[in-house]
This record gives sequence, C-alpha cells and structure tokens, in this order.
Amino acid sequence: MSEADRGAARVRELSHFIDGRRVAGKSGHFADVYDPAEGRVSARLPVASADEVAAAVASAQAAFPAWSETAPLARARLMFRFKELLDQHSDELAELITRDHGKLFSDAKGEVVRGIEIVEFACGIPTLLKTEFTDQISGGIDSWNLRQPLGVAAGVTPFNFPMVVPCWMFVMAAACGNTFVLKPSERTPSASIRLAELFIEAGFPNGVFNVVHGSKPVVDALIAHPDVVAMSVVASTPVAEYIYREFAARGKRVQALGSAKNHLVVMPDANLDRAVDALINSAYGSAGERCMATSVAVAVGDVGDELVERLVPRVRSLRIGGGMEADLDMGPLISTAHRDKVIGYIEAGIAAGAKLIVDGRGHVVVGREEGFFLAGSLFDDVTPEMRIYREEIFGPVLSVVRVPDLASAIALVNAHELGNCVSLFTSDGGTARTFSRQIHIGMVGINIPSPVPPAWHSFGGWKRSLFGDHHAYGEEAVRFYTHYKSVMQRWPGKAA
Ligand code: NAD
Repeated sequence: MSEADRGAARVRELSHFIDGRRVAGKSGHFADVYDPAEGRVSARLPVASADEVAAAVASAQAAFPAWSETAPLARARLMFRFKELLDQHSDELAELITRDHGKLFSDAKGEVVRGIEIVEFACGIPTLLKTEFTDQISGGIDSWNLRQPLGVAAGVTPFNFPMVVPCWMFVMAAACGNTFVLKPSERTPSASIRLAELFIEAGFPNGVFNVVHGSKPVVDALIAHPDVVAMSVVASTPVAEYIYREFAARGKRVQALGSAKNHLVVMPDANLDRAVDALINSAYGSAGERCMATSVAVAVGDVGDELVERLVPRVRSLRIGGGMEADLDMGPLISTAHRDKVIGYIEAGIAAGAKLIVDGRGHVVVGREEGFFLAGSLFDDVTPEMRIYREEIFGPVLSVVRVPDLASAIALVNAHELGNCVSLFTSDGGTARTFSRQIHIGMVGINIPSPVPPAWHSFGGWKRSLFGDHHAYGEEAVRFYTHYKSVMQRWPGKAA
C-alpha cells in the first residue's frame, strides 16, 4: 500500500467540543462514520454519555449570563471575524462535508457559501434586535418592546446538510444572545467540530457553542435537561414530530422541520428545456438527498410524453463517482442501509404497477466497487396511492404523475401530507399567480427548482414538513430565539 493510500485509509478519531475545546469521548462507546464513496469506515465518533451531555449544557449555561449581556454590536463584530475565517477555510470545510456525506465537492462548496450567508445576515443583529417604541401612550407613559435571549438552546441536525443546517441554528441563536449545544448527525459530524473550533478562534467565549455526538439517547438527554430551554430540529418527519411532542410537553419552545416530497409542475406552455434541466438538477443532484429535491414531476395536459422522452437520455447519462472528482453530476448515497431502502422503494413502485423507464439499480463505479452508489431511476405512470408517491424516498428516483389541468395539479400537491417546497414551470403570469396563491406549501418556485430562500428571508415547509410556529433563519429565527417583552413606564416627578 502506498503512503497516499495509507493516508486515505486512516481512520480519524473525532471528538466532542465542550467549553471551547475538543474533548475526547469518555463513555467508551463509539459509532463508525463512513466515507460513502469508498464504502469504508473513515472515522470513529465518540457517543456522549449523559454526563458528557450535562457537561456541554453546563458550559453553555455558565457562558449565558455574560454572553446575553454582551452588546449586540460586539456580538456582530465577532460574527464578522467568524465569516472571515469561514471564507479562509471554505475548501477545508467543503472537503469535510464531501468525505462524510459523499456529495460533490462543488455542491459542498455551495453549502459552505449558504452557511456563510447566514453568518453575514447575523452580522446585522443590532438592527434585527431593534424593536418598537411608542412615546406618550397616555399622560407621561411610554411603551416599548424588548427581544431578550432565552438561555441554552439545543439543535439536532440531519446528515444531508452538515454545515448549513447547524448554521441556521447556532449562528442565529448566538447572535441573539443565547448559548448553544449542537447534536449533529452521527453520519456527517466532521464539519460541525471544525465550525466550533473556528467559532472560538473568531473570539466567541468558551461555552457559547458546544457540540456533542450520538443518536436518540443524546437527544433524549437534551430534551430532558431542565437547563435546555429551546430546541431546533431538522430531521425526518417521525423524528421531528417525536422531538416536537416531547419538548413541547415540557412547556418549552421547539421548532422541528421534517421530511419533504417536492413536486415540480410542468404546464403545457412551459419552456421544456428549462423544465428538464430543472428536473435533472433537482431530482438527481446530491443523489436526491436534499430536502428541496424534486421527487415528483407533475405533467399537465399533453406535456407528459415529450417530457418523459426528453428526461430519459438525461437520466441515463448522469455522471456518477466520488465527490472529490471533477465533472460529475452526483456522488454516492449516505449508507448501504439507505441505498437498500431506496432500492426497496423502486421494487415497491414496480410491484404497484408504475412503469420503470430508467433503472438505476446495480450501478457500479469502476475503482469504487465498495461505494454506496446508485444511478438515477425514472418512473412514469405513477399514481397518488402508490408508496413511491406518498412517501419520501430521499434518493435519485423521479416519479412522473400525469394530470389533466392546473386545478388537478394544485389539488394533487395540496392533498399530500408533506409540504416543504414546490415549483411550477409555465410561461403564463396568471397561471403562476393562481398557483402560488392556492398552493399549500411553504416554499414556492416559479420557473425555479428547489426555491431555497436567501438568508434574509426564512425557510420552512407546511403541513407535516414543519412542527412549530417559526420557520428557520432570517427574521423568523430572531423571533424563535428571543423572548418578546413589553415595557411600559411612567416617571412621576417634578417635570411630569
Ligand atoms: P433522521 O431523522 O434519521 O435524523 C436526524 C437527526 O435526528 C439526527 O441527528 C439523528 O441522530 C436524530 N435522530 C434520529 N432518530 C432519532 C430518534 N428516534 N429520536 C431522537 N433523535 C433522533 O434524518 P436524516 O436521515 O439524518 O436526514 C434526512 C431527513 O431530514 C429527511 O427526511 C429530510 O427530508 C429531512 N430534512 C429536512 C429538512 C427541512 O428543512 N425540512 C432539511 C434537511 C433534511
């Protein structure tokens, strides 16, 4: 084995990040982190014990009084420094994401940019925390509002966006004056540890941002901890709903974003070149493992045959390989278990009578035979009662459903229990307006696939794609991570 191969095969030891430094795991329990393109274990992840979770919360709790009293302008200045460090380390962060997740390096770089945009937005926190003031609501009485931090907040994040989703949470929570404990995905934990290190290097006090690893028991310990007063979650719907229920039952503040089943509706008057490009990128990019991925193409009227005809060669020619290689369209799936689950859905689709036009099963990438690869699959004649239509697949599988008109397309999308995002491709403004007003979905794209709102708007779905009252990041995050207080004052005295 060459030196380079030995380096590549090295298994890294990961750590928690508590009270401003990396902390080795003491529980004696470890989880394996895989390099999905190689299909081998790349790192050992310590799993936190209840004591280690308590240590992280205690650090955050100890940091809270001084941090919450730190002027918003001073917090903003640290955010500016953090942003500079993220710029300097963007390639390193993107590589950590690609090695854990498998997504293409270019895609990971895009994620890093999205994370940095959240930090840029948080640099405006003095303005964001400004509130209303009414002079003289009555004789000598004024009234105003304050937005005050909550205390220790926690975050639970999914595997598919190891940097940007944590940034939605800890960056906005800290900017608002809270301290934070993150429990990242146990499958893609590396970026969050590096983010915590850079955060401290930027000058944030120890304890403002901590990271502990593990799965359900660690989440349960955070839920039950009396000092954790708020929790943000991004997960599959059953997990999001479970955490939402448990945390809310304790009378605490929680937002939990869940699964997605995103439709892209193609009208007969759509620009088909653009619609096909959009479908290919949003259904197969990142191997379909995005909460904004398109999973269903809704072909309206007579557009279905031509749409499918154009999609087939594009799906067949997707370039697949290791995420660090150039000029590819997608990398591997996250794990063998997940690949098996996606294959199970393809089998269920065939059994239910859907027409499998492109079959991505059995794909082998030469030189990476152990990698968790699957090529793109395309189904036609999918109907709403089929499991492949109802359930989130989270893989490179696109289903085409045909409907007669716009009203049926809207009814179809609105009847689905999930409601993260939707897109419409049309050349008619009236159609677009009707669609965007009548659709029961949190994020809508017109002639745009995967309409991820920018950092200064907010992100979230409807129905069973989000449990709670607030969307993520933007001003919604300022509302979520602060108490709203009303103050009224009178100063009776000589001058009154
Ligand atoms: P997951 O639900 O398996 O895990 C998410 C997090 O929850 C992880 O940190 C995990 O350790 C923890 N967890 C898992 N089971 C748990 C349990 N029983 N109790 C408590 N915690 C538990 O999700 P995943 O596979 O990592 O990520 C993919 C899912 O996340 C997809 O469903 C996707 O749609 C969703 N997602 C949603 C959004 C959004 O914005 N709505 C964004 C990204 C991902």
